Amino acid sequence: KTTNIVMLLDTAVTKVELVAKEKEQQLNKLYNKDADIRANVDRDRFEQVILNVLSNSIKYTNEGGRIDVDVFEQDGNARIVVQDNGIGISEEALPRIFERFYRVDKARSRAMGGTGLGLAITRKIVLLHNGVIKVKSEEGEGTTFTVRIPLKYMEQSK
Ligand code: ATP
Ligand code: MG
Repeated sequence: KTTNIVMLLDTAVTKVELVAKEKEQQLNKLYNKDADIRANVDRDRFEQVILNVLSNSIKYTNEGGRIDVDVFEQDGNARIVVQDNGIGISEEALPRIFERFYRVDKARSRAMGGTGLGLAITRKIVLLHNGVIKVKSEEGEGTTFTVRIPLKYMEQSK
């Protein structure tokens, strides 16, 4: 059984739209809603992946910022791209953000709420789907997360 990744993404975007609106952020959907990119995913878990990345972008982008969301098919993979023009992540911190409980700015993060588990869980789920999650960031400029999962995913004994 396969899931339309575009629909799954669009539903997740809808769920966070209000939060972005409250911060007067532009949440741009670059994808074509009618596209159909199918993959074999655990729907609830994969939605959690998308929601974690999306809510981070909203959380770590200032009022009036911009978040671009896209999904497309490439080389037998579905690629989800979430790009923000938020606070960004320093070069030193970047390799550590997928660690459990790691947060770049302890004081600020505490004030914002959360645990620092979001990306650790996200990465685990992506790996369970034989996928890859990548991040590019420039402090003060913004951050781009890319989640790639194979469209034809064979069930494996893990
Ligand atoms: P939680 O997700 O558990 O509520 P969290 O958001 O702090 O808490 P993660 O989602 O694991 O934890 O992210 C780890 C850290 O990576 C964050 O604390 C933040 O410093 C940094 N980070 C994640 N996404 C972004 C982003 N889009 N822009 C800037 N920094 C980010
Ligand atoms: Mg988070």
